[in-house]
Amino acid sequence: MTRVYNFSAGPAVMPEEVLREAAAEMMDYQGTGMSVMEMSHRSAMYQKIIDEAEQDLRDLMNIPDNYKVLFIQGGGHVQFAMVPMNLFVNKVGDYILTGQWATKAWKEAQLYGTANAIASSKDKGFSYIPDCSDLPVDENADYVYICLNNTIYGTVYHELPDTKGKDLVADISSCFLSEPIDVSKFGILWGGVQKNVGPAGLAIAIVREDLIRKDVLPGTPTMLRYSTYAESGSLYNTPPTYNIYICGKVFKWLKKQGGLEAMKKRNEEKAAILYDFLDSSSLFHGTAAKKDRSLMNVPFVTDDEELNALFLREAQAAGFVNLKGHRTVGGMRASLYNAMPKEGVEKLVAFMKEFEAKHSQ
Ligand SMILES: *Cc1c(COP(=O)(O)O)cnc(C)c1O
Repeated sequence: MTRVYNFSAGPAVMPEEVLREAAAEMMDYQGTGMSVMEMSHRSAMYQKIIDEAEQDLRDLMNIPDNYKVLFIQGGGHVQFAMVPMNLFVNKVGDYILTGQWATKAWKEAQLYGTANAIASSKDKGFSYIPDCSDLPVDENADYVYICLNNTIYGTVYHELPDTKGKDLVADISSCFLSEPIDVSKFGILWGGVQKNVGPAGLAIAIVREDLIRKDVLPGTPTMLRYSTYAESGSLYNTPPTYNIYICGKVFKWLKKQGGLEAMKKRNEEKAAILYDFLDSSSLFHGTAAKKDRSLMNVPFVTDDEELNALFLREAQAAGFVNLKGHRTVGGMRASLYNAMPKEGVEKLVAFMKEFEAKHSQ
């Protein structure tokens, strides 16, 4: 068996320990004689799995009691719709456009009411986070929406926007559980799990209770109401049982690693290895504004398209895979999620140094 160093932005690398455990339990989960994927979601055994997953996530993120943790199918794009459908009262949402995912959320909200773009970094290819200290927040805005970590461009908010008293909603898909976060500063935090947590197809929404409304937009389907999940413990219908089980294993793994403070320290160390090299390299350079750099996604380029392509081919052959930048921006991108070992980044940088030595004039 050969494992590669997988720098994919998502679906992405998983902790090996979690994969091994899941493999060992595949045929017989704790003496039940069946896999978790064969198990009734109404069984006591499964109830324990989902309850523990929720509790471990609450422990890791220090989630206050007045927030619900909801396991929802459909990934990120369903949340783009659920946010306005559930939060629109005045039918106004203020969006900060820092890339493709924030823009898609903004466009989706336009289906249900007024979605304002109150700041944007599109002028420079979304390579930075705009100044959010004095935003033109709409008096009637039901919320202000951000994408906290911009997976494609490698930027992150180091400071949250001043929302002028409006509830802040954040997409945390690509920085979920990468470092501690103060949940109480947000109305809703949601993330698709396939970037930094688990298998694709599941989103986790952490929603302050007063935002779980009954009077949602007329016509909102039952399965797109946060209340449906909140009232049923995310078991209104059959949830993605296996995904939740794997996420639960990742939560336990994170606890064993020392929790989110420890992950932050490790993620900072890993990112520094790559950024320090990029800043000193004569061939490669990072594309995100230094002040806004993400710990999770590191886009970089050479100034030569052919060299970029050659680098990707040679890296792939050497076992460093999925380094191609997003199809809309090109170049390279290394995603350094929690499960990427430090050794993977060190070896990548050693490989980049060799490539540089061969190809620098
Ligand atoms: C990947 C990603 C999405 C889209 O998620 P889907 O599950 O594919 O809908 C949304 N937001 C961010 C920040 C992402 O990285």
